[in-house]
Amino acid sequence: MIWDEKIECMSLEDMRELQLKRLQDVVTRAFNEVPYYHKRYTEAEVYPEDIQCLEDIEKLPFTTKTDLRASYPFGLFAVDQKEIVEIHTSSGTTGKPTVSGYTKEDLDTWAEVMARGMTMMGIGEDDIVQNTHGYGLFTGGFGVHYGGQKIGATVIPISTGQTLRQIELMKDFGTTMLIFTPSYGLHIAEELHEMGIKPSDLNLKVIGFGSESWTDEMRQSIEEKFEVPAYNIYGLTEVMGPGVAMECDQQNGLHLYEDHFYPEIIDSKTLKHIPEGQSGELVLTTLTRVGMPIIRFRTHDVTSIKHEKCGCGRTLVKMSKITGRTDDMLKIKGVSVFPSQIEKALLSIKGVEPHYQIILTRPDNLDQIEVKVEASPDIFFDNVKELVGIRDKLAEAIHDEIGLRVNVNLVEPKTIDRVDAGKAVRVIDNRNLK
Ligand code: ZN
Repeated sequence: MIWDEKIECMSLEDMRELQLKRLQDVVTRAFNEVPYYHKRYTEAEVYPEDIQCLEDIEKLPFTTKTDLRASYPFGLFAVDQKEIVEIHTSSGTTGKPTVSGYTKEDLDTWAEVMARGMTMMGIGEDDIVQNTHGYGLFTGGFGVHYGGQKIGATVIPISTGQTLRQIELMKDFGTTMLIFTPSYGLHIAEELHEMGIKPSDLNLKVIGFGSESWTDEMRQSIEEKFEVPAYNIYGLTEVMGPGVAMECDQQNGLHLYEDHFYPEIIDSKTLKHIPEGQSGELVLTTLTRVGMPIIRFRTHDVTSIKHEKCGCGRTLVKMSKITGRTDDMLKIKGVSVFPSQIEKALLSIKGVEPHYQIILTRPDNLDQIEVKVEASPDIFFDNVKELVGIRDKLAEAIHDEIGLRVNVNLVEPKTIDRVDAGKAVRVIDNRNLK
């Protein structure tokens, strides 16, 4: 099933034409209605009429999270505040949060892109969607909620936490789609296992996961534990929320809804475009957003994009899974390391669970990496030989992946802190850098 065949299977030429028209429109509106853009563009001596083709987007300055924070709270709104019907914010762990404002039209667009994606994942009006994403200022909960309702599915807005209640409802209501962050999903899987409930006792048919970084190995682990396919949902609060790009049944990339979000891939050092298919930083422009146009937002997410006809029949540009963030890249002994590389190596070895922490220290000015990972419940802790064997294999796999030696600490099941809500803490940097 394809939700909007006209758009999702549009020819590249038609899509380019639509994008250019919308880009010109959004740049004009931003310049005229938002003092921030007016000032930035005037300073850079670039004006709406300079956008004659899509490539001209490179003339425009970038927008960063710092710009968004500096415009806190409503400085980027292009309409009167009375037109804004909903507000979300980013988590704001450092400094002021960034604000995202939506008009009625924006909420329709949000529901529309989520509906496309959920349809792509095989969900329809007969389905029951259990949404464990938090409802509140975080966009995850509402995005799934609006999309699910748009396609006529039944949405259970349970939010994160109350894991036993979640399981009870999954059984009683016959949940067919479960939405979660990978770390919370693994927590649910653990509880199910402990309660002796098998995936076949449930009515699940698909999982949608997002808002945390993940590796193929992590996905595989989730699919094995729930015995259903799991698809990724990508998005960010600054641009809209979940639904910017979503994965189809081919599981080899996400279709990016490029009629609403125009993607560019740049080299994060030179800030120049890099060729299609090559990996770099994703930059997004909202082409249709009314309340708060975001132009050339640097996401810091590392990915690549490719135009190709997909096995699912759609022509929308495909974005590879996010392989890291330019700002969560760790510099260890001068080497660039993404936590996702370590995760990939860990989960390639049998005998461990996808619960881990990377701990960085700097005794005597020398970086040390400790990777703490939980052994599978079927590993016997009194079998020292077996433990050492697994530990050595893990250290070897990580070395192959990142080129550095690490201390692997295999710990007993369920000893690494679980977060019952929200996201897992994967990296602890005790090096006192900065
Ligand atoms: Zn596809």
